[in-house]
Amino acid sequence: METRDLKPFHYIRPESLQEAGRYLASEEAVKLLGGGNTLLLQIRSGQESPDILLDVKHLPGFGDVRYHHNQGLKLGAAVNLQHLVVGLEIRRHYPLLHQTAQKLASPQVRNRATIGGTLAWASPISELAAAMLCYDAVCHTWSPRGHREIPLAEFYLGDYQTALARDEIITHVHLPPFPNRTYGIYHRQTVRHDGRRMIAGAAVLAYRKQQALTHWRIAVLGMDNRPKRIPDAEAVLEGTPGEAEIARALEIVQEQIHPADVDYARADYRRASLNALLKQAITEVIHHLQSIRS
Ligand SMILES: Cc1cc2nc3c(=O)[nH]c(=O)nc-3n(C[C@H](O)[C@H](O)[C@H](O)COP(=O)(O)OP(=O)(O)OC[C@H]3O[C@@H](n4cnc5c(N)ncnc54)[C@H](O)[C@@H]3O)c2cc1C
Repeated sequence: METRDLKPFHYIRPESLQEAGRYLASEEAVKLLGGGNTLLLQIRSGQESPDILLDVKHLPGFGDVRYHHNQGLKLGAAVNLQHLVVGLEIRRHYPLLHQTAQKLASPQVRNRATIGGTLAWASPISELAAAMLCYDAVCHTWSPRGHREIPLAEFYLGDYQTALARDEIITHVHLPPFPNRTYGIYHRQTVRHDGRRMIAGAAVLAYRKQQALTHWRIAVLGMDNRPKRIPDAEAVLEGTPGEAEIARALEIVQEQIHPADVDYARADYRRASLNALLKQAITEVIHHLQSIRS
C-alpha cells in the first residue's frame, strides 16, 4: 500500500457538549471521531485532513442504553454496534435490529463502530439505517444553537449527505416502543460473504393487531443514493395481504427505485435480486405473524 505523510492534527477529548461546541465554532477544520472505521481510512487516503479530531465517544450520556416499555429505546451515539448483537433489550424488543447487526461487517468492525458514526457516515448501503428506518428511529442532535430531533426518514439527503449542520453532533437515537407481536426480517445479497459489494438489501417489518397485519415498513438498500422506505408499497400491505397485494407492493417498489449498473452487477440484476429478497421477506413476516396464537 502506498504510504503518505499525514498532516499533523490535534486529538481532543471534550468533556462536555459546550466544550465540543467551542471547537466546532472555531476556524479550524474539525472532524468528529466515533469508532474511526471510516474516518481514519479517509484521513489516511487524504480525502479528509482535519486540524482537530474531536473524540465524542466519552461525552456524558453517549454510552447510555435505556429501554422502557412505554418509552422505547434510547441508544447513545457512542454505543457500539456489537451491543445491538448482544444487548438483551435489543434481542427481546427490537429483533430486526439485532438480526441486521449480526449480518453487518465483522465483530471487530462492530466493536469499534458507533451508532452516531455509522448513521452520520450515511452510506447508501447502511444496513443499520435500514433496520432503524423500519423502527421509526429519530436522531437527537446538539449544536451551539440547541437540541434538534430529526426523524431518520428525513435524515438522509443522498450521496453520503445528511441533514446535519457542520457543527451538529448526534447525541442519541430514539426508537419508539413496539407491540410484542412485531416481527421483522432483513435479507441481503452481496458478492462477498463478509457483506462487501452489496447487490441488494431489504428490511421488512409489521405487527399484528387482532387479525390484521399493520404498521408495514419496507426499507431498501443499494438501489438509490440513500437507504429509503417505500411508504406507497407499505400502504398496499395493510390488513390481510394476499398474493395480489404482495405483487402490487413489489411493483410499486420497482417503480420507485433507481439502481445503477456497477462493475459486479447490472442494474436489472439488482432489481430482480431486490424483488426476490423482498418477496421472501414479506412472505416470511406474514407467515410468522399469522402463526402467533390469538
Ligand atoms: C471493513 C469494514 C466492513 C464494513 N462492513 C459493513 C457492512 O457489512 N454493513 C454496513 O452497513 N456497514 C459496513 N461498514 C461500515 C461501517 O459500519 C462504518 O464504517 C462505521 O460504522 C462508521 O462508524 P464509526 O463509529 O467508526 O464512525 P467514524 O469513522 O468515526 O465516523 C464516520 C463519520 O461520522 C462522523 N461522526 C462520528 N460520530 C458522530 C456523531 N456523534 N455525530 C455526528 N457525526 C459523527 C465523523 O465525523 C465521520 O464523518 C464496514 C466498514 C469497514 C471498515
